[in-house]
Amino acid sequence: MKDSKYRPAAISLLLGAIPVLAESTGIATKHCLRDPPPALRHDGQLRCPPPIDESTGPKPVDWSPWTHRPECVESEKDPGVKYCVYSNSRHGDQGISIITKPKTAADSAGMLNEEFPGATHLIPRYRATLLSTCRPRAWVSWLRARLLKPRRSWRIGRLVVLDLSFPKAMQKHVGHQYLHLASDQLADPERVLGLGRSSTAAVDIMEDILGTNSFSYTLGGDAHMALYPEVARINHACKPNAFVRFSPTSFDVKVVAFRDIEAGEEITISYIPMNHPREKRQRDLRRWGFECKCSLCTASKTEIATSDYRREKIASLQENVMKAISELDGTTAVRASYDILELAKAEDIHTMVASQYEVIARLFWKAGDVETATKYAQKSLDTHVELGYIDSRPDDLELLLKDFTT
Ligand SMILES: [Zn+2]
Repeated sequence: MKDSKYRPAAISLLLGAIPVLAESTGIATKHCLRDPPPALRHDGQLRCPPPIDESTGPKPVDWSPWTHRPECVESEKDPGVKYCVYSNSRHGDQGISIITKPKTAADSAGMLNEEFPGATHLIPRYRATLLSTCRPRAWVSWLRARLLKPRRSWRIGRLVVLDLSFPKAMQKHVGHQYLHLASDQLADPERVLGLGRSSTAAVDIMEDILGTNSFSYTLGGDAHMALYPEVARINHACKPNAFVRFSPTSFDVKVVAFRDIEAGEEITISYIPMNHPREKRQRDLRRWGFECKCSLCTASKTEIATSDYRREKIASLQENVMKAISELDGTTAVRASYDILELAKAEDIHTMVASQYEVIARLFWKAGDVETATKYAQKSLDTHVELGYIDSRPDDLELLLKDFTT
């Protein structure tokens, strides 16, 4: 899926994942042709920069595009596998540090030159809206918006990225040393070190900050975690007014509004899947060290019961769809999918509405009804575009339908 230009969200959403904090964000790195045949080597664009490490050379030009000489360490568990800290302190506003393998760094280096198109770079104004930290131990601050329209977004692009296999590959104190180096080499390490922590145990501060504030991220096909200090300050709500969208070709992310956000209104995203009942949401949110008091969690008993009923019903219908698919019972699967669609609309879970159209399209496609399948596939694309979840491209429908057959 990661090589596909169009990345349908339906299946992950069906299983409860969301664009924000999804376990698999499906980020595709730019395709980079390695070791092209000699006839193609005249085209520098096609060539990846070679992997570099601390042995490449002593001069800055040797480790370009990074501004610091990579510091590397070999895996204790898997000798021969090396991880290095790659930093470019001039990237974006605050710089970027990546702890990863040399090949992954080389393959992703081109992403440093790319920007997320279609978003306004509003960092200075954005900063001014960060008011104060309001909860001990939690990293929440109140982020209030200027008027923000649906699909309008902010582009944010500075971070620490960490290969998830790194912490397990070496002793803790070595891991901590490299984490601190990654932070120190940013233009303003305090932006990272000032973030909240959720662990009461006396673990290393950088480990705690990353564990509390990071998003799942895929780089070079490997699982990484990514920390965007500004995004990390956005509060959670179970019915958020915005979501975080990752760029497939750069290190930028966008914060995209689901709906009109009034001046002074707090911007919120969801840290967890949006289709869970209140009790489960509260349980899941404890890992960030707070109890959710959003408008949905503090609504009247009747409203909470109605919402919980719909969300539990969605979960059980999703199981029915899976079971019906495994039993090749298309009629039941389609009927249950329509019910999920209506419940998702009633619950205002926009991303689920968009993905449910795709689920229905796939079911009709499977049943051989190409016309209805195409209609729902188009509805899914239109809704995703409307939400700002994807950008409209002329070949989207063709790519999506092609994906149905694979
Ligand atoms: Zn809540």
